[in-house]
Amino acid sequence: GRVSNNFQFIDVGRNDPKKKNMRARKSQYVEIYDPFTKAQVEEQSERCIECGNPYCEWKCPVHNFIPNWLKLVAEGNLFEAAELSHQTNTLPEVCGRVCPQDRLCEGACTLNDGFGAVTIGSSEKYITDTALAMGWRPDLSGVVATGKKVAIIGAGPAGLGCADVLTRAGVKAVVFDRYPEIGGLLTFGIPEFKLEKLVMQRRREIFEEMGIEFHLNTEVGRDIAIDDIMEDYDAVFLGMGTYKAMQGNLPGEDLPGVHKALSFLIGNVNHNMGFNQPDGDYVNLRDKRVIVLGGGDTAMDCVRTAVRQRARQVVCAYRRDEENMPGSRREVKNAREEGVEFLFNRQPTEIVNYFGEAGGVKLVRTELGEPDADGRRRPQAVPGSEEVIDADAVIVAFGFQPSPAAWFSDINVSTNDWDGVVAEEHQEFRFQTSNPKVFAGGDMVRGSDLVVTAIWEGRQAAEGILDFLEV
Ligand code: FAD
Ligand code: SF4
Repeated sequence: GRVSNNFQFIDVGRNDPKKKNMRARKSQYVEIYDPFTKAQVEEQSERCIECGNPYCEWKCPVHNFIPNWLKLVAEGNLFEAAELSHQTNTLPEVCGRVCPQDRLCEGACTLNDGFGAVTIGSSEKYITDTALAMGWRPDLSGVVATGKKVAIIGAGPAGLGCADVLTRAGVKAVVFDRYPEIGGLLTFGIPEFKLEKLVMQRRREIFEEMGIEFHLNTEVGRDIAIDDIMEDYDAVFLGMGTYKAMQGNLPGEDLPGVHKALSFLIGNVNHNMGFNQPDGDYVNLRDKRVIVLGGGDTAMDCVRTAVRQRARQVVCAYRRDEENMPGSRREVKNAREEGVEFLFNRQPTEIVNYFGEAGGVKLVRTELGEPDADGRRRPQAVPGSEEVIDADAVIVAFGFQPSPAAWFSDINVSTNDWDGVVAEEHQEFRFQTSNPKVFAGGDMVRGSDLVVTAIWEGRQAAEGILDFLEV
């Protein structure tokens, strides 16, 4: 046990789950990591030195009780570990899969200095996956109904986090989403090789058992009027994400053969899941030479989807160097292993028009200049260094901006100068908007960020709503 050997971390190293073989990785839409085994989780748990002030907990955006649930698993109390893990996180099995742990919990682990961090993410995933498979369900036996009901617009991680906390406090949560399945970008953005679709389908069933009501295929402002929602509910939470793709303003960006990253990914998910979609939304890159422009999580998901579609060649061009890529290092490594070529310090200046279609990308070399306001070094073009890389398809992954609904002004919800909804954590009612009855959180408030930060804001907004409703 770990009490008898506090120096376990010296003899036993960090351990990552095994990856599937390369043939499977290059051709199948399945998660690339095998599940962590019981023995592996126990071994990692025993490496945890239970430092007095656990840095991992502080750095984790939802402040998971990491050392405590690791200890419960090692003691054989899996169901208690799952219950504890759900006290702070609405989707622990999802975060275990998709959080950039190297920048969050594991990056802050005391052992990360020299010994290798405790493998936290895979353990978190193991606890919930295994407990659910063994029949564990969240314990809501003590919940007393308050008679209040709240409408939640958006079934992404922010909306689900909000619904979870409200339900556990006896408030009825009714969730509206325009898509045919819950999850938001977890279902329609993040591909299967990071997060298989069954994970969210299973979650929907659990949420429904908890009493959360979902109205899918229902777009607020089109299929149902916001005025009706405002009238019928005691409060409203907005968790609608950011869906306006940022443009590069490049000559040729409108040519056939140039695709927006998210449309490409959503088209592929719909194709794989058999959902109806208008003709032409599914793009097939088989045998094509593909260039993806951008260096974030979305760009990595595009290059790796292109590999699985059996593109002939997949190149990622990014304007900074590898050190300064914004996404998870683990996924860059995975992309490279799967055969993606990276061109760093390259900025696109034009999409080449080849007989009316995209025929390649003109790239200029960059050098990193002075740090900008965020402290990131700004890339500057090196004159005379242009080159053309031939391609049959170009995918633009420059990020997203909020896309405010036309009805925000009808209900007096204010936005800021970059179209984000104004709602802050540190005010009397957490994440309240300029309309006292309306709360908001996730990407539409903070700008595109992470699953775990969206969950946190949704959960915090639920606390704000509970205070507002005085329940
Ligand atoms: P969303 O997940 O966008 O959910 C918003 C929901 O609102 C959607 O389901 C939408 O249909 C619905 N909606 C919007 N308007 C309406 C309306 N009028 N009526 C009804 N419904 C509406 N983060 C990570 O932590 N790790 C990763 O590996 C990662 N990879 C990513 C890969 C891609 C390709 C992308 C695009 C993002 C990735 N992210 C990742 C970021 C992460 O997915 C988002 O930060 C997170 O999903 C934001 O949650 P949200 O609830 O705010 O919004
Ligand atoms: Fe780490 Fe994310 Fe889990 Fe927090 S939620 S412990 S950051 S994997």
